[in-house]
Amino acid sequence: MTTTTTNELSGKSLIGFHDSGQGSKMFRGFNPATGEALGPEYHEATPEEIEQAARLASEAFTTYKQASGAKKAEFLNAVAANIEAVTEPLVERTHLETALPKPRLQGETARTVNQLRLFAKVVGEGSWPMPRIDRADPSRKPAPRPDIRSMLRPLGPVVVFSASNFPLAFSVAGGDTASAFAAGNPVIVKAHSAHPGASEITGEAVRKAVKSCGLPEGVFSLLFGAGTTVGTALVQHPSIKAGGFTGSTGAGRALMNLAAARPEPIPFYGELGSTNPVFLLPGAIAARSSKIANDLYGSFTLGAGQFCTKPGLIFLSQGQPSEGLVSELKTKVTEAPQFALLTKGISGDYDREAKNRKGRKDLQLVAEGAPASGTPYAASAALYQTEISSFMASPELSEEHFGPSTMLIRYSNKQQILEAARKLDGHLTATIHGTEEDLREFAELIAILETKVGRIIFNGFPTGVEVCHAMIHGGPYPASTDSRTTSVGTEAIYRFVRPVCYQDIPDSALPPELKNGNPMGIWRMVDGELTRQAL
Ligand code: NAP
Repeated sequence: MTTTTTNELSGKSLIGFHDSGQGSKMFRGFNPATGEALGPEYHEATPEEIEQAARLASEAFTTYKQASGAKKAEFLNAVAANIEAVTEPLVERTHLETALPKPRLQGETARTVNQLRLFAKVVGEGSWPMPRIDRADPSRKPAPRPDIRSMLRPLGPVVVFSASNFPLAFSVAGGDTASAFAAGNPVIVKAHSAHPGASEITGEAVRKAVKSCGLPEGVFSLLFGAGTTVGTALVQHPSIKAGGFTGSTGAGRALMNLAAARPEPIPFYGELGSTNPVFLLPGAIAARSSKIANDLYGSFTLGAGQFCTKPGLIFLSQGQPSEGLVSELKTKVTEAPQFALLTKGISGDYDREAKNRKGRKDLQLVAEGAPASGTPYAASAALYQTEISSFMASPELSEEHFGPSTMLIRYSNKQQILEAARKLDGHLTATIHGTEEDLREFAELIAILETKVGRIIFNGFPTGVEVCHAMIHGGPYPASTDSRTTSVGTEAIYRFVRPVCYQDIPDSALPPELKNGNPMGIWRMVDGELTRQAL
């Protein structure tokens, strides 16, 4: 089957090369803008189907882990080309299932495709497994030194949980899947229930690439069903060797705990909640408060505020110089149209927390956008404000409020800002707006923030995560379950590998990356020096 239009969707899981719909439990996607249920009905995967996907993945690993960099690059490029070829129906269906604007989804498709191609380049070049060679020294006294070589090898089948808020770039063929494939691992995706049709179209594009590249079918499967059944079963399955996840702190933490409690614990890379503090320093306010107000509004309402990098905590000084910014922000929020959130769950969470915030005595509602009405998951933009002392006394105020809201935290002096920064939990990002002079005055702030976040931004905004080699999209818990890694950018490949050492193994039996002749012409560390020379 070639899935090119919504009418051709099967409603079934993709298990290797077969469509499978044995489950009697069914669900549908919904149009968040209208509440309309979308066809077809999707079958939730059964335990037998989960078992079959896991078995195929395990079998495929023995072949796929040996695939050359060139073969993996061909595969990743084929996935990219197949997605590009179905851009129109994919964007159409994703728009129906998410109410995200089509231009945004076109951009996200391009990002997904470029991400796959970037990983293809990395594996095609081939130096990424960081080969190291320490040559033998038979004459060393008192004992000869053996020949020791090491490099990174894939872990095994990876389960990937699609995200609701990036139905393409963090979903079926998103960053987790691309990096796991690039490292040499089969992938089983647990589709997000909010966009099954988009998942199926993308899954079909991946499956076509598996076929056309002559790879074993178990390299990729896509399963539909609830996180609490299909998701937990996958994380606990003995054939699964790692997990990738983007979503809520509650679900991510539950899955991480399951991964750790297995008889054989596995790494679980969850990208969870983040409120992304922004520090507006006095020099920046004096120089360009109007621009900051404008850009801040754009950033916290982008994608209806459903970005893990949404700026949700805005530290702003008390007093006159800041009042212009507050007033402009207030106008923008008051004039904001209503937004459509992605799912019933996200909408319910947003409304519950909005009600909670409005009822608090230590929090002021500064402005609210158009009242939410007429559509099922409508949301009003909101701007809240609190004193820094109240913020410090109530840690729950720094929790993620997913949707188009943000909070001003008013400070009076430098010590208060530094103290608040020291008390922050882990976040994906922190942003500083200031002048060079502000940076000198607040030098300690960067040193503190380095211990709290994965990315520090100067005079910009955290939404918009470049896919490149140097990007870090992660951070101390609860931003992510493992602060040593990133889920965006090519560095993400290192989540799904482990180092293996080869001692005195004959050249003929070594992986190509470690052979004396360096047949791939890649960068290696030989006796402590980086070189591309053969031995
Ligand atoms: P979610 O509820 O965390 O769901 C993400 C994935 O985890 C889905 O596949 C879901 O399965 C599964 N899941 C949910 N609860 C589970 C559990 N107890 N055990 C195992 N798997 C479970 O995220 P969401 O639906 O996208 O949004 C809910 C909230 O998450 C939002 O309100 C927001 O606060 C937060 N969120 C944060 C980010 C971020 O980037 N920081 C992104 C998205 C959401 P189903 O398909 O069955 O739902």
